[in-house]
Amino acid sequence: MQLICLGTTGFHPNTRRHTASFLLPEVGVVLDAGTGLFRLADHLATERVDIFLSHAHLDHVSGLTYLVETFGVDAHDQVTVHGTTDKLTAVKQHLYAPAIFPVAPGYKFCELGETCQLPCNSAGDAGTMRTFPMKHPGGSIGMRLEWPDHSLAYVTDTTATADADYIEQIRGVDLLVHESNFPAGHDELAELTGHSCLDKVAQVAAAAEVARLVVTHVDPFLTKETDFDLSDARKVFAEIEIAEDLDVLEF
Ligand SMILES: [Zn+2]
Ligand SMILES: [Zn+2]
Repeated sequence: MQLICLGTTGFHPNTRRHTASFLLPEVGVVLDAGTGLFRLADHLATERVDIFLSHAHLDHVSGLTYLVETFGVDAHDQVTVHGTTDKLTAVKQHLYAPAIFPVAPGYKFCELGETCQLPCNSAGDAGTMRTFPMKHPGGSIGMRLEWPDHSLAYVTDTTATADADYIEQIRGVDLLVHESNFPAGHDELAELTGHSCLDKVAQVAAAAEVARLVVTHVDPFLTKETDFDLSDARKVFAEIEIAEDLDVLEF
């Protein structure tokens, strides 16, 4: 199965990265709807999409307003936006307020609980999603997605610790996509902003015994020159990479 990185930063886009969005083209599942969602049309392989929101901060939802370009304004049967009740209410009331965005969307909004069935893969097997609450200003949810022989966890906008509550929820997945807004050593800022440092994310991946870790929601202020140094993190968890926009991850 493939996961296409449509956007791999947070806060704001820069010339290298757009904000959080990922596509599983085989099943038409989108994780978060940041500015990277403008790329959806180029990679869409299904007639409809299910978009799952980790939370409603702008860097994860602003791309919802780009969908009119992909699906038109009456996409009642083509787009379902899933999220917790409070986040969907915020999106409907604020992002789609007429003074903010003039086109009322025809999409379905679906309340996301602890479990959810996911579309069938090309072999005809349905998937399942399990969600779990995470610590972040305003709250966010992590997601574990599974089909037979494929498992993925998406953990963004939270402060990783070696004993984080969600470690059991992501145990043993084939691919963990976890935010690390900051390099190691910015713990105070990470706690203040509700984000993660690379050393702690590597500890989470090791504790959860995942097969592979791909780091996302990379601080947009980092440049190629000041990028993450992975050498220390690799001593804790060897199979770690930093996501770039338009990477295609196989799992
Ligand atoms: Zn974010
Ligand atoms: Zn956030």
